Amino acid sequence: MSDIVASNETILVVGGGISGISAALEAAETGKRVILLEKNAYIGGRVTQLHKYFPKLCHPTCGMEINQRRAKTNPNLTILTLAEVTDIAGDKGDYSVKVTLKPRYVNNNCTACGKCSEAVDAEFDSEFNYGLNQRKGAYIAYNNAYPQTYVLDPRIIGTNDASKAKDACPVDAIDLDMQEETLVLKAGAVIWATGWRPYDANKIQPYGYDRFANVITNVEFERMNDLMGPTGGKVQRPSDGTEPKKIAFIQCAGSRDRNYLKHCSRICCMASLKQTHYVRENIDGGNSDIYFIDILAIDRFEDFYKKVQEDETVKFIKSKVAFITEGDNNNPILNGVDTEGYHRYAKEYDLVVLAIGMEPSVNADEFPVDIVLNEEGFIEMDEKNGGVFAAGCRSDALDVNRAVQSATASALRAVQVINQVSEAK
Ligand SMILES: Cc1cc2nc3c(=O)[nH]c(=O)nc-3n(C[C@H](O)[C@H](O)[C@H](O)COP(=O)(O)OP(=O)(O)OC[C@H]3O[C@@H](n4cnc5c(N)ncnc54)[C@H](O)[C@@H]3O)c2cc1C
Repeated sequence: MSDIVASNETILVVGGGISGISAALEAAETGKRVILLEKNAYIGGRVTQLHKYFPKLCHPTCGMEINQRRAKTNPNLTILTLAEVTDIAGDKGDYSVKVTLKPRYVNNNCTACGKCSEAVDAEFDSEFNYGLNQRKGAYIAYNNAYPQTYVLDPRIIGTNDASKAKDACPVDAIDLDMQEETLVLKAGAVIWATGWRPYDANKIQPYGYDRFANVITNVEFERMNDLMGPTGGKVQRPSDGTEPKKIAFIQCAGSRDRNYLKHCSRICCMASLKQTHYVRENIDGGNSDIYFIDILAIDRFEDFYKKVQEDETVKFIKSKVAFITEGDNNNPILNGVDTEGYHRYAKEYDLVVLAIGMEPSVNADEFPVDIVLNEEGFIEMDEKNGGVFAAGCRSDALDVNRAVQSATASALRAVQVINQVSEAK
């Protein structure tokens, strides 16, 4: 890795989700040198874990393929996966950034044939599928992952499985001697695009996510509906593997609540409205009930909302669910008051999907540089941040469209810094 060229005219992008990729490509396509650092073994971030995109209901892989092609053909852009920033020193126009590169144990010879995975016995919870199934100790996160290179789980290094993977590889791609490396890269500007993580549903105790098998989250529901997902696109109750017919979506699960996540993530309403389409498409005779406080379907999303309202398989109940109990057959029972008729209800479902919100993926105390954050932990736009700019969901909870707009804006700000550095030389 010592051949990586970086100077104070380089832009460093931290986080290779849709926002980081967009910012990196926009900056690289203006002719600037850009290095994109991603902590996972693949780029794409959380959109690669979505089944379909609202509002068009297209597959996220489509937009991702266009970005992959742009990335492959741009000589100004270097992508480093399994990379994390541990320290940033210096000032706007002149940063030194310390980066840790974890070993993949697989080199560029890899043709993604999968022979290593077949040879290995050990299995671990699949992070990509939010632990809904297991993956092998030699794996590729998902079929279209970029780079198309397998990775060995560090937990199998030193075991028989590691040797079996090496022996099975027909192109000598397994390198068990790979070590962690530390790089120090120069940069003039840094774009911070580390995105979001799902709010921890275990914290919302009244909803019993930790106790009731058939209470799941919206991100898990995305994976369940994906043909390439843990159930091959079949919606199944975790308790018994049967197909649920009566499904409830609970909006603002933990969100807009001072006990949990104070902010509104803006996308959860649209995500649930989208997921009612999954119910109609994938479950014969499936019905969706949406429990909501108010539905946020801003701008052009209003049409999408209206279409779902016209769908007779979907019912809207204006109510904040108070708590969930469990009935016979592991059926979750929703308890609360319907605020339109002030009726108490205790309604039984086959499956409950919690529309949990988005929180910043890097904790405030884990930043390797001083940065101004707002109350929710998102990066503020502030002069004090110097040449460090936030992109996408690192700046706020956003849908993809807005995340990409934010990324393009941050690319422009970073390019301006590099232009100033170049002019001063
Ligand atoms: C249930 C649900 C459904 C959704 N459906 C839609 C939809 O249909 N349409 C839509 O427009 N939006 C949807 N969204 C929102 C969409 O997922 C986000 O807009 C999008 O993921 C934002 O991308 P991002 O790049 O900003 O963040 P992320 O996707 O989170 O990417 C951040 C990247 O940074 C990496 N990273 C994190 N920390 C580090 C670190 N320290 N060092 C290096 N790399 C790091 C991560 O591994 C990741 O690759 C949905 C959200 C939810 C919760």
